[in-house]
Amino acid sequence: MLEIKNLIVQIEDKRILNGLNLTVNKGEVAAIMGPNGSGKSTLSYVIAGKEDYEVLDGEILLNGENVLEMEPDQRAAAGVFLAFQYPLEIPGVASMTFLKATLNAQRKARGEAELTTPDFIKRVNAAATQLEIPKDMLKRALNVGFSGGEKKRMEILQMALLQPSFCILDETDSGLDIDALRIVSEGVNALRSSDRAFLVITHYQRLLNYIVPDTVHVMSSGRIVKTGGKELALELEANGYADYRDSEAA
Ligand code: ADP
Ligand code: MG
Ligand code: MG
Repeated sequence: MLEIKNLIVQIEDKRILNGLNLTVNKGEVAAIMGPNGSGKSTLSYVIAGKEDYEVLDGEILLNGENVLEMEPDQRAAAGVFLAFQYPLEIPGVASMTFLKATLNAQRKARGEAELTTPDFIKRVNAAATQLEIPKDMLKRALNVGFSGGEKKRMEILQMALLQPSFCILDETDSGLDIDALRIVSEGVNALRSSDRAFLVITHYQRLLNYIVPDTVHVMSSGRIVKTGGKELALELEANGYADYRDSEAA
């Protein structure tokens, strides 16, 4: 589904990704673990199409299509979704309004009719109930004054509504207490399917007890330096990243 070959990316003349290779198959949940500053968020932003990053070499293919040639909204329409490490606050826009606009923009890009309001409300309520998001929270401005856990739940709510085919979760576990971690993980697990893939980025093994990955990749200095099964996460938890740091770090 996702194929990244020799990706080299810099920002402000600083190289952050240094020839990264990664393949994620349909139906797979792939975890990326790695120390702070290894380039994990950069990778997720480059896939989602955030500007400011200069791609010097390499390619990103989604179902055989060149992602790097698409605008961010085209990537979203193609099924790419990024749950941010630091979700954006949008003062003055009710969460509900934001969700409806996002969902309808996706439908428009796909040539589908807009959802009627009752249809939308039905879907949003079902997803909110599963994620234990109180209805009055949906009336508040998006993420403004939300706790860390509430923001992350809102990200997963967006994901549940948009039903993307390639989901990237960037440190969705950071700032979550154990109950929120369980709720968010159940929300993610409910979306697991044979035609959807996930890239789960995390520092900690803990999240992977709840969202059990098929594969674990270790990232260091802008490259994938080791790939294994879920047991690799346990090994990292026990031994830290010291074995995987290389001397080429910028
Ligand atoms: P991670 O998510 O693994 O912690 P990041 O992708 O956030 O790593 O960052 C990788 C490196 O790139 C870090 O050294 C960080 O300081 C640097 N970096 C990220 N964004 C910028 C930016 N906008 N300007 C300059 N350096 C950046
Ligand atoms: Mg970080
Ligand atoms: Mg990060």
